[in-house]
Amino acid sequence: MAARILDGRALAQQRRAVLAEEVAAFTARHGVAPCLAAVVVGADPASRQYVESKARAGGLAGIRSETFHLAGDTSAGDYFGLIEDLNRRRDVHGILPQLPLPPQIDPQRVFERIHPDKDVDGLSPVNAGRLLLGSPRLVPCTPLGILVLIDHAGTELEGAEVVVVGRSNIVGKPVALLALGRHATVTLCHSRTVDLAAETRRADVLISAVGRPRMIQREMVKPGAIVIDVGNSRVEGKTVGDVDFDRVREVAGAITPVPGGVGPMTIAMVLENTLTAARLQLESGR
Ligand code: NAP
Repeated sequence: MAARILDGRALAQQRRAVLAEEVAAFTARHGVAPCLAAVVVGADPASRQYVESKARAGGLAGIRSETFHLAGDTSAGDYFGLIEDLNRRRDVHGILPQLPLPPQIDPQRVFERIHPDKDVDGLSPVNAGRLLLGSPRLVPCTPLGILVLIDHAGTELEGAEVVVVGRSNIVGKPVALLALGRHATVTLCHSRTVDLAAETRRADVLISAVGRPRMIQREMVKPGAIVIDVGNSRVEGKTVGDVDFDRVREVAGAITPVPGGVGPMTIAMVLENTLTAARLQLESGR
């Protein structure tokens, strides 16, 4: 039987409706709407489009957005100056540095400078450390969206074999830690993994975050597994994932499409994290 399709667009829309109610209540309570500030450097059309779609989705949920467009040759000093301003502003609750950044601006230093309570990407050392130590606060958006999709599929993570392919700071490592926090048995694979298929075939939940089209083939998937495809590559003008979707769906129990799976959930989680950040700043009494 063909796998169930995990529709990230529909789920993101459902979450946004709930979020809109929570945002309205927050705004009524505090007299200020949660606000997300995005910082875009250079004229990369994909980055601009991504930020615009986040702002549009945020607007639908009642979240205010500000976008700062900086020239591609902006110095690190000017960039960090803007981050400091946004850290100080009481009407800005989340800061989103759009990646990629030009070579003069080191992304690691950017996340070191963003106030941890405004770090909606969950990539600052403090938030990454909290996740590692088992007390997450702001968690990276794509991994968070993946967990929501898995929960929505009705899959129990406790005791499950979760295999993650890809060990980036933004997806692979944090999603592995989140699954571990739910008591899954986690295997984290990468480019030096000796026999990838032997690892992936054990997975009850297989998460691929590599960026190599059709890398995950049917024979690498255990029948009935949940397959989460994070990959996002362009092939002949089309967006494709890491998974050979048509063949893998013949054996998997559930599978995310690309596009329309993990991507919309990432945007939904940016917005949810913005409300979480606003609550941390106005309601946690820190
Ligand atoms: P990344 O930083 O480039 O990391 C890729 C990972 O894949 C690395 O850990 C690498 O291993 C591993 N890898 C490369 N070749 C491999 C192979 N042959 N076998 C096993 N592992 C291999 O990527 P990322 O930022 O995590 O993104 C991964 C993909 O997800 C990209 O396509 C990106 O566009 C997409 N993405 C989508 C969303 C979304 O919202 N939909 C969000 C973020 C990312 P090493 O560490 O050993 O080099």
